[in-house]
Amino acid sequence: MTLKVLYVCSELFPLLKTGGLADVSAGLPPALVARGADVRLLLPAFPGLVAGVTPEGPTLLVPAGGSPGLPAGLGPQLSTAHGPTPWLQAGRITESDMPVWLLHAPGLYQRAGNPYLDEHGQPWPDSAEQFAWLGWAAALLGNGLDAGWRPDVVHGHDWHTGLAFAYLHELARPAEPRPATVFTVHNLAYQGVFDASLRPRLGLPDGLFHVQGLEFHGQISFMKAALKYSDAITTVSPTYAREITGAEQGCGLDGVLRQRQAQLHGILNGVDDAVWNPLTDPLVQPGFDADHLQGKVLAKARLQQRMGLEPRADALLFSVVSRLTEQKGLHLLPAVVDDLVQRGGQLAVLGSGDAAIEQALRDCVRRHPGQVALTVGYDEALAHGVIAGADVILLPSRFEPCGLTQLYGLRYGTLPLVRAVGGLADTVVDCSLEHLDDGSANGFVFQDLDVPSLLGALRRAFALQRRAADWRSVQRHAMALRFGWPRAASDYLRVYASVLPDAVDP
Ligand code: ADP
Repeated sequence: MTLKVLYVCSELFPLLKTGGLADVSAGLPPALVARGADVRLLLPAFPGLVAGVTPEGPTLLVPAGGSPGLPAGLGPQLSTAHGPTPWLQAGRITESDMPVWLLHAPGLYQRAGNPYLDEHGQPWPDSAEQFAWLGWAAALLGNGLDAGWRPDVVHGHDWHTGLAFAYLHELARPAEPRPATVFTVHNLAYQGVFDASLRPRLGLPDGLFHVQGLEFHGQISFMKAALKYSDAITTVSPTYAREITGAEQGCGLDGVLRQRQAQLHGILNGVDDAVWNPLTDPLVQPGFDADHLQGKVLAKARLQQRMGLEPRADALLFSVVSRLTEQKGLHLLPAVVDDLVQRGGQLAVLGSGDAAIEQALRDCVRRHPGQVALTVGYDEALAHGVIAGADVILLPSRFEPCGLTQLYGLRYGTLPLVRAVGGLADTVVDCSLEHLDDGSANGFVFQDLDVPSLLGALRRAFALQRRAADWRSVQRHAMALRFGWPRAASDYLRVYASVLPDAVDP
């Protein structure tokens, strides 16, 4: 019997992306399909997603609690501000042909800005309802709303899907089929915590609102709902899976995660070869590989020109492609820029976020015109140009669930310089003498979140640059590494199998 998986998430590359979550939603489902699973996505009908989906198949109304067969008061309550009853439209992602349900609720999703923040960077005031409806629709599909396609597994991603697990818990009836449930934490720091007064509006019964349920210090936590009521939990790297069970990285939920340790798995994200392959990347032509690096030399010259850096082929070009936040450790960067430039390096930054970090980097550009460049904003094409053209990509993160740009850097021969946390610790091996000697080195790793440690790693990068043959062999090793979705998909199938009744064979 084919395993049916309902894959619930809030963003999807290339239609709607704020971070790595979108890349995973594009990469993992096709890899699960390639391994024999029947996967359907469920996403809110944000404008970018509507534009990229071809409707095909049924439309289903999403009934409210109290409708025939559903407990009264359970699930988000209809409010007149939101127009007619929300509905699900079946379709396919036009570009990939992947089957999808889009959840329409006219007042909730058809708006400008990103899925979580308004144009002023503030959370949408009705964020809780937006994602309660997503969870409710997931729970109803899991419970058989579409008689023609009933999932064996409901797999939700990040806090936006958290209430699905609580609603499914409430809908479960002994002796009736229920789907197995898996929840993936992409970032524990974003938890979806809302005022307890919203409970009636979200249809969360008293039986869920206690310390062993979804209550978090007197508030409603979507993240905690998922951690408490899912059958299995995964996160996006083995090291992050360990880190979040401790107080330092547990964001107040480490106790809950320790209780669930037996069902907590770390599965490293993959790289989508169709998007991030230096040989075929349409945004980086002519392409290159480990044996033919002329295309990388050209990409560096193009990047320097595009970002207003001096056209110096010998400058060690460091780069950042990131949200500019303290999570990413980028508050440390301005303090090392003078040193980096004095040593003959250049720096190209693409990102946006924290105003203070942006301002400090602007000051660096002013101090070092032609050697330091900053582009504020989100630019997919430039991101490819930076990762292809730079020599080093920086991720000095405070915490990093997986990190994708270091994986892209490895693939493009752009050596990652990272702090040893989360997925960075799992994927980057420092150019220490012993690692150079055994051939495992692929980048630069530092331990402490402070300026001296970061500077030490920068100095190792300059030292390796002066040893051209060593640089070349480290780069060659980096470019040969593969972090594919097929391996990750097999690991997810194993997790599904661990929570499925025996009758279903994934
Ligand atoms: P996070 O999800 O925490 O932001 P990840 O490393 O998991 O970090 O994923 C970030 C993704 O977003 C990568 O695909 C990266 O290339 C992309 N990205 C980040 N900032 C930008 C930007 N300013 N412009 C284009 N792409 C960006």
